[in-house]
Amino acid sequence: MKNMGRNLSRYSEKVRRLWEGMNPCELCPRMCKVNRRAGEIGFCGTGDMAIVSSVGPHFGEESVLVGKGGSGTIFLAGCNLGCVFCQNYDISHFRHGQARTMEQIVEFMFDLNGHGCGNINFVTPTHVVPAVAGAIELARQRGLELPIVYNCGGYELVETLRLLEGYVDIYMPDMKFSDSAVAKELADAADYPEVAFAAVKEMHRQVGDLKVGANGVASRGLLVRHLVLPNKQAGSFKIMDFLAEEISPSTTINVMEQYRPCFKASSHPKINRRCTAEEIAKVREYAVSKGLNVLN
Ligand code: SF4
Repeated sequence: MKNMGRNLSRYSEKVRRLWEGMNPCELCPRMCKVNRRAGEIGFCGTGDMAIVSSVGPHFGEESVLVGKGGSGTIFLAGCNLGCVFCQNYDISHFRHGQARTMEQIVEFMFDLNGHGCGNINFVTPTHVVPAVAGAIELARQRGLELPIVYNCGGYELVETLRLLEGYVDIYMPDMKFSDSAVAKELADAADYPEVAFAAVKEMHRQVGDLKVGANGVASRGLLVRHLVLPNKQAGSFKIMDFLAEEISPSTTINVMEQYRPCFKASSHPKINRRCTAEEIAKVREYAVSKGLNVLN
């Protein structure tokens, strides 16, 4: 695989710094310190190229991203979290897909634009952010104007996010857990709560509250996703408190109801079932009571 899009001389300082951040790899809070540019692999199981699992208009995303033409999703394989209940485990843990150059990712972006998508939605980009930022830069230089959505797990390093300022229009992080012991057991990330809280603050600093145009489609801002887990395992109320009190009372949040006990969840007794209607309702009501902008 000759050259593989790694000639970085035409890229900006920010993109080059992101690529340098893979040797040793300190792109995310795992701090694996492996040399991914020499083929070493860390927790995310991914080399220096992005593995693209699928590309296409997606109509199952939040309505503010879908519009008429769908959200232009680019699903990236691998993940820096180890969620035992992963709802996308074939992509995230088994890493199904093909390694693609930044040039190839740019082609996908223009294909999605040609299909009438309202945005480009990078799904699970954190561990391959150098390739994602490089592709965004090239696409912008070639005239792509669609908003860029950074659709991530929330386990992000603030220093890395700072290098993305100006590249991302809509940050769409998960906020998965507010309790460290649960985050350790269910995602192998005891520091998830503090890391995700700091990351969301930085995202909001960059893009502010979600702005939705007269056509009902978002153009910029923060959109938080929160998947309710059974038996209060997500620590939902603390997350709502944090968003309302430390981010903005106008934060837009999608309280997601679709939890299913996938992957290894059946061996964890507290999450081996779906949520009840009452569990979901309590979280939604609490979010509303805090004044948050809760999507339907
Ligand atoms: S991006 Fe991957 S290799 Fe780098 S620190 Fe994170 S998990 Fe480790």
